[in-house]
Amino acid sequence: MIQVQNLVGGKFVTTDEVFDDISPLDNSIIAKIPRTKNVDDVVEAAINAHSEWALLSIEQRCEWLDRIADSLQENIEEVARLEALDTGKPHEVAMNVDASRSVNNFRFFADFGRNLKSETFSMPDATNYVMRKPIGVVGLISPWNLPLYLLSWKIAPALLMGNCVIAKPSEITPLTAHFLGKLCTEIGLPDGVLNIVNGYGPEVGQAIVEHPDIKAISFTGGTATGKIVAATAAPMFKKLSLELGGKNASLVLDDADLDIAVPGVLRASFLNSGQICLCGSRVLVNASIYDDFLNRYLSELKNFNIGPVINVEHRNKVMSYIELAKEEGGEILAGGNVIDKAGAWIEPTVIGGLSHKSRTATEEIFGPVVTIHKFETDEEAIEMANCTSYGLAGSVWSKNKGRQVAEQIDSGMVWVNTWLHRDLRVPFGGVKDSGVGREGGLWSIGFFSEAVNICVMED
Ligand code: NDP
Repeated sequence: MIQVQNLVGGKFVTTDEVFDDISPLDNSIIAKIPRTKNVDDVVEAAINAHSEWALLSIEQRCEWLDRIADSLQENIEEVARLEALDTGKPHEVAMNVDASRSVNNFRFFADFGRNLKSETFSMPDATNYVMRKPIGVVGLISPWNLPLYLLSWKIAPALLMGNCVIAKPSEITPLTAHFLGKLCTEIGLPDGVLNIVNGYGPEVGQAIVEHPDIKAISFTGGTATGKIVAATAAPMFKKLSLELGGKNASLVLDDADLDIAVPGVLRASFLNSGQICLCGSRVLVNASIYDDFLNRYLSELKNFNIGPVINVEHRNKVMSYIELAKEEGGEILAGGNVIDKAGAWIEPTVIGGLSHKSRTATEEIFGPVVTIHKFETDEEAIEMANCTSYGLAGSVWSKNKGRQVAEQIDSGMVWVNTWLHRDLRVPFGGVKDSGVGREGGLWSIGFFSEAVNICVMED
């Protein structure tokens, strides 16, 4: 049994009350988690560490990020093992997506930091020098679907820009954050620079968002929680980054190369059991190729290996959407059932025959459930893609019209003839109810620093 602890000012501590971390594979208890309610001590530890950390040069902080990346790389098997244990995802997904990307996040921001250019703006009689000052203590809150992947995506740029961090992983998946904390203390990261607290979102998460000395909040999670976070943080004038839910469309146009589109759309539908905010849970297919696409998609689905969803509560939520789909007139084309074994397993499910405006086709389900719809023209496909309140991502599959159609989709990211092909320098984030702000490259640098202009008059 793993005992997850909080990392506060370089010390591992727990709370009087603990609760269970349950495996989605078989409902066994795999860890005990501290139930933290108050963050005053951890904020104090982070404030105490901040002045020295902020004084380091950016090159010195890049070295620290590289050391963290090295340490994660040396222990990558253990990172993947813990992530697979906590989330139930297949080992190859935990290794190739979660663990590898967590290493890359630290490595990327180390390299990015070394190549940051100074920003100056000349006037005829003066020069403006832009300084990027640390914010201070920042709160990072992340969800359970890609636990260390998403948390490290925030920790790395926050540390790079000279901030001290209070990180809160989801209570459902705390293992890899705890492991990262251990590695950071082993390599001697100064005490209090990275602090990790565990507990329930409405308790410890809310305490982080409310704390007056935490000056910025970077949050990834559901849209409903994002509203609570925004309502709390905005009146305190905290910097706020919100990466929220999605209901993304995959558009298969009449000139799509089905040899690429079928496996690509399938992967977008079901990777990580459909529990990635970027997953394409609405598949829109041109009527002229619909039957051919659907036959090949359903046939290849039989060989697609997925794990369980995150827990039984979430399984029940996903199943309630399958029931709703039936009530809305949907036809179950594949799956549709709970897999009868311990844990939180659901068959990958494809639903046809629904209006693209139905609740099933417009609300975020966040599981292995896809609705498939037919369209006649590209204009109709664009209208269907844009008809939800979300605007996170999307993909277009077409030999000749991909970019032109992609530009008309109201979302923060669109892939053409690929999906989840990530360059960490580009803006990542959503529009509409999918969030506020962007992460990635310069956008993360901008969020995790205060840009200060110094205008010097020439003689
Ligand atoms: P939640 O919104 O339930 O939780 C996200 C995080 O917020 C968790 O750490 C949670 O803690 C915490 N939290 C809950 N309540 C509060 C509160 N009042 N104040 C502060 N923090 C709180 O999301 P899920 O974990 O269920 O994740 C799934 C969602 O995340 C989906 O909607 C998905 O689309 C979205 N997501 C968005 C991404 C993006 O980049 N746009 C990427 C990945 C996921 P705890 O779990 O302990 O309750």
